[in-house]
Amino acid sequence: MLELNNVNLYYGRIQALKNVSLSVREGELVALLGANGAGKTSTLRAISCMHPIKEGSIHFSGTDLTKVPAHRLVDLGIAHCPEGRQVFGRLSVKENLELGAFRRKDKEEVKRDLEWIYSTFPRLVERRSQSAGTLSGGEQQMLAIGRALMSRPKLVLFDEPSLGLAPLIVEQIFDVIKKIKEQGRTVLLVEQNAFQALGIADRAYVLETGTIKLEGTPEQLLSNEEVKRAYLGG
Ligand code: ATP
Repeated sequence: MLELNNVNLYYGRIQALKNVSLSVREGELVALLGANGAGKTSTLRAISCMHPIKEGSIHFSGTDLTKVPAHRLVDLGIAHCPEGRQVFGRLSVKENLELGAFRRKDKEEVKRDLEWIYSTFPRLVERRSQSAGTLSGGEQQMLAIGRALMSRPKLVLFDEPSLGLAPLIVEQIFDVIKKIKEQGRTVLLVEQNAFQALGIADRAYVLETGTIKLEGTPEQLLSNEEVKRAYLGG
């Protein structure tokens, strides 16, 4: 479904991605792991056309994503849940969620999806009229996930959804990501929290200074000494 081939991405003279190749099959949950600055966010930026690539190719269900303007991604079925959430602070929770569905015409289905999101995150029901900027970090993350899902994406890109959240909330967020996959959606999950990401992933890649170092199933990576040392605390 998603295929990156030998992608090279630069910020000025700094090369952030070096010959990155990875693939995500339909229905798969793939984790992209790595330390700070490894290039995880840059990979997602390249996929969602937020930063041009210098060399290589990126295809989504046969469409060349390097030729697609970023605002068309939703039409293709790709939703990006960016790092730092980026909800619309002055708008209410409900307005943020509705914005996620603004290109959809199937109003009844939109209503059903809204109900699913409220039932998944009851906290958002209590706060639906509250402005998003006044939510806690965890609540904003729930809202960002909810908003991404309101577009009914085929592929969801998550950028560090657990960043800065309390352990209990992290667990809840990972449970929801697992549910999203079980609904038949495809997920690419960028995480520093390797242990938890491997708990729900089908496969994972490890990025190191812009290069894919390892690829495998959670079982393979969890038994790899290098991975254990570098990402799982020994
Ligand atoms: P983190 O987990 O800290 O967000 P990351 O794995 O997502 O890290 P990237 O944000 O993709 O890493 O960054 C990869 C490299 O590119 C880093 O060395 C970073 O300093 C550099 N970089 C990222 N954005 C820019 C930018 N706008 N201008 C210059 N360099 C950048």
